[in-house]
Amino acid sequence: MTTTTSLQRSTQEYGADALIVCDNLVRIYQIEEIEVQALQGLDLLVERGEMIAIIGASGSGKSTLLNVLSGLDVPTAGGARIAGWDLLRMSAADRLAYRRDVVGFVWQQTARNLLPYLTAAENVELPMSFAGVKAPERARRTDELLGALGMGDKTNRRPGELSGGEQQRVAIAVALANQPEVLFADEPTGELDSATGDDVFAALRSANTDLGATVVIVTHDAAVSSQVQRTVAIRDGRTASEVVRRTEVDEHGESSVVAREYAVLDRVGRLQLPADYRSSLGLRDRVRLELEPDHIGIWADDDEKGKK
Ligand code: ADP
Ligand code: MG
Repeated sequence: MTTTTSLQRSTQEYGADALIVCDNLVRIYQIEEIEVQALQGLDLLVERGEMIAIIGASGSGKSTLLNVLSGLDVPTAGGARIAGWDLLRMSAADRLAYRRDVVGFVWQQTARNLLPYLTAAENVELPMSFAGVKAPERARRTDELLGALGMGDKTNRRPGELSGGEQQRVAIAVALANQPEVLFADEPTGELDSATGDDVFAALRSANTDLGATVVIVTHDAAVSSQVQRTVAIRDGRTASEVVRRTEVDEHGESSVVAREYAVLDRVGRLQLPADYRSSLGLRDRVRLELEPDHIGIWADDDEKGKK
């Protein structure tokens, strides 16, 4: 009885004030006899106002995670909460409201983001029409968004008359139309050259800093980590490590960007040691831990070595 209570309490406390909380998220796809574990107990916390990148190789579970967070797909187990919405316990009506008002998406396939027969402005107005926003307000917000994203002079062009990078900037405006709490982007620069990709990043950054959206970008491109403050690496459907970049000023007043890598500790204290650390110290099966005043020491299991 006591155990249950304390477990419930620690579940509540995990990421209590975060905007996005993924707690031990599991998604298993079943195709005939074969099970694919796309997410294998993924933990993730994102604070309101952050702009982060989630980086992982192809097949590591990035799109699966975004499909879950977008409310399109339901996880097999674990917890997921965004802006107070519990993604495992939403009714169909909740799900629609959530997808319309709480999250915005820029999809990997550019064609999925925009309707080809509508102009840039009409594409941005469409989600506001669905949400019942009146015409003058729709027009005002469309101008504001396309202007902020550097597309103010091309509002009457159709997607086919825009470059790939311009289409992605319109897609960001569409995703932001109903003032979502979070903007998700799946490989937003995947099909673009690097200069155009930088423009799209500038647009995502302005969505974050000027328009106040929390931004989560998913990509296989490790170079993206130089564009954001925090990068979360996922491997085999699980968060493996984080890199946090900070600007530090030294005693001579010189500022430099310092990137520091962290391992991720889950709610119950589990930690994954990097493979190169394990192999260089021959750590396997079990290790010896010692609590020191300001750190924890980890040693290979000497008894085990003696037996060989
Ligand atoms: P990423 O976006 O990082 O490339 P995905 O999330 O698309 O990875 O895929 C993760 C794993 O789940 C892969 O092994 C993929 O083959 C599998 N997978 C993804 N979607 C499906 C699906 N609808 N049915 C079956 N397996 C899937
Ligand atoms: Mg993908």
